[in-house]
Amino acid sequence: MPVTAADLRAWIRAFAAQVAEERAYLTKLDSAIGDGDHGQNLNRGLSHAAEGLDNGNDDLPATMKSVAMAMISKTGGASGPLYGTFFMDAGKAVGERPSLDVAGVAELFRAGLSGVQRRGKAEPGDKTMVDALLPAVEALETAAENGEALPTALRNAKAAAEEGMKATTPLQARKGRASYLGERSKGHQDPGATSSYYLVAAAADTFGSSA
Ligand code: ADP
Ligand code: MG
Repeated sequence: MPVTAADLRAWIRAFAAQVAEERAYLTKLDSAIGDGDHGQNLNRGLSHAAEGLDNGNDDLPATMKSVAMAMISKTGGASGPLYGTFFMDAGKAVGERPSLDVAGVAELFRAGLSGVQRRGKAEPGDKTMVDALLPAVEALETAAENGEALPTALRNAKAAAEEGMKATTPLQARKGRASYLGERSKGHQDPGATSSYYLVAAAADTFGSSA
């Protein structure tokens, strides 16, 4: 079953629900190495994004654009513009296609990640969102090359993102607020990598169960 605009809306709603549920946890992670607002920031942006989703007429790029605009205007923090860029670029990449197969989902995530990297200039290992997103993108691209079905591709991406998220714990932050702590940023899981894992997990739980 290919991914339709309705599936993208279900994905964003699932991401918003997960962030709402884990808001206190995200805030706790951000209190350790940042300013303790990541859960609140994302919850604000995503609840607006979820509310603004059209229930029927938006196509794939319009759906992603409406999420991007809500994230950019309502989230705040460093993560708002970064997630906004993720969805803006992801929407442009999927273009006017009516639905996405595994390769299309890989392209969507690759374009979103490239946007995050262009905007934030983070490299892998800098202890950011990139550390969860990049392994997920690579897993999706490998799955597409190997002709895997969507549920398998997304299951692999979710596992890869989870591993990437956990691997941020020992790292020293080199981007964002946490980088001000220098060595003291070590030993804490990155809040943005954690929310990015939820983004991938929400895709796995929505697109991955449809086939
Ligand atoms: P702020 O740091 O402004 O309070 P948030 O708390 O909402 O913003 O988000 C913090 C998260 O943003 C970090 O955990 C990190 O993953 C991510 N982040 C910060 N700077 C960058 C960057 N340049 N590139 C990628 N991700 C970043
Ligand atoms: Mg913060």
